[in-house]
Amino acid sequence: MRKTKLWSFLLGVDGILVDDVTYEEESRTLVVSARPKAGKRNRCAHCKRRCGKYDNGDGTRRWRGLDLGTTFAAIEAQAPRVRCPEHGVVVAAVPWARHGSWFTRDFEDQMAWMATNMSKSAISNLMRTTWRTVGKVIARVAKETGAKVDRFANLKKIGVDEISYRKGHRYLTVVVDHDSGRLIWATPGKDEAALNAFFDKLGEDRTAKIELVSSDAAAWYTAVIQKRCPKARLCLDPFHVVKWATEALDEVRRDVWNDLRKSGRAKLAESLKRSRYALWKNPENLTPKQSIRLAEIAQVNKPLYRAYLLKEQLREVFKIKGIHGIVLFDKWRAWARRSKIAPFVELAKNIKHHRTGIVATLAEGLTNARVEAMNTKLRLITRIAFGFHSPEPMIALAMLRLGGLCPPLPGRG
Ligand SMILES: [Zn+2]
Repeated sequence: MRKTKLWSFLLGVDGILVDDVTYEEESRTLVVSARPKAGKRNRCAHCKRRCGKYDNGDGTRRWRGLDLGTTFAAIEAQAPRVRCPEHGVVVAAVPWARHGSWFTRDFEDQMAWMATNMSKSAISNLMRTTWRTVGKVIARVAKETGAKVDRFANLKKIGVDEISYRKGHRYLTVVVDHDSGRLIWATPGKDEAALNAFFDKLGEDRTAKIELVSSDAAAWYTAVIQKRCPKARLCLDPFHVVKWATEALDEVRRDVWNDLRKSGRAKLAESLKRSRYALWKNPENLTPKQSIRLAEIAQVNKPLYRAYLLKEQLREVFKIKGIHGIVLFDKWRAWARRSKIAPFVELAKNIKHHRTGIVATLAEGLTNARVEAMNTKLRLITRIAFGFHSPEPMIALAMLRLGGLCPPLPGRG
């Protein structure tokens, strides 16, 4: 009995009886031969209901646990099958692992925690697994923790967006809770079906309680949102509006650069090419070198610098928000229209059609910072997830990192 107590403690597992402990020299693994305690035996892996034993399954199996120091550790046990009236013939549940896994629960929880806090290579090296295995593990963990919490409770303000990955060939549709700042839903694809799936999952009652939906200006979003929650106020995500201005600015920069090159001023053209990031970045994040570059642009290239100011002014609109933001927005439109800078004249013309959505955003006080931060983090996750073989582990990683689904570190919850 003392043996059982010691090993349940070391492995962090309740409800097991330990029969034997051996050390396998070749694989440098401590093998703990165990079985579930009487009350935990012969239970369906899905509903945990007590069932009749069906057969011995594939016999003895091994589950890898957290290393003990530098030594591998594994639990070895029989894996019989049971017949559940609801789920049919399934491998019986074991108290130390999730269904379908070859790792212990603690091993998987630690891996999930690491995936939200550490780099890809650090996890693979420390846990001695491949990145693909990490993907499978976190998908399992996120599925379980996601089923335990109600992510859709008290939803009032949501943001819908799409994130491209695999060099823009694939998409995820994501939904964010503006109040908590959390990611609450992500699914592959960017079409009506993807967004409809969210509202289906949310259910009619809760959908009716949604007061505000922000998204980009794509028509298909608007159509689905208007159909599914007609009472919600439609807002335009500040992130996308500022992005239009950034794109217009980049167009101006390219034109100026081309003109300089064609007129033989190669040195100036080259310096402008390097100033791309200085123009893109938010001024508060500029490095001293980039600030100097920007000052140079102000000196030698007035239209480009004015284009930069136009972009920054539009960002300012969403920082100020409220009624003052709306006034500033209308002033901005007038300024852009008269700017004689073609891409901004064009933008002023197009943005007119989105005034209602932008005014709603400003009146509701939606800030760009949060949406922009979420986009940046999601883009990073899609890059880290490269190497997973399906979108599920990537979605799991996003939910663990940004959806608050990460389990606590084993032994420290
Ligand atoms: Zn069952």
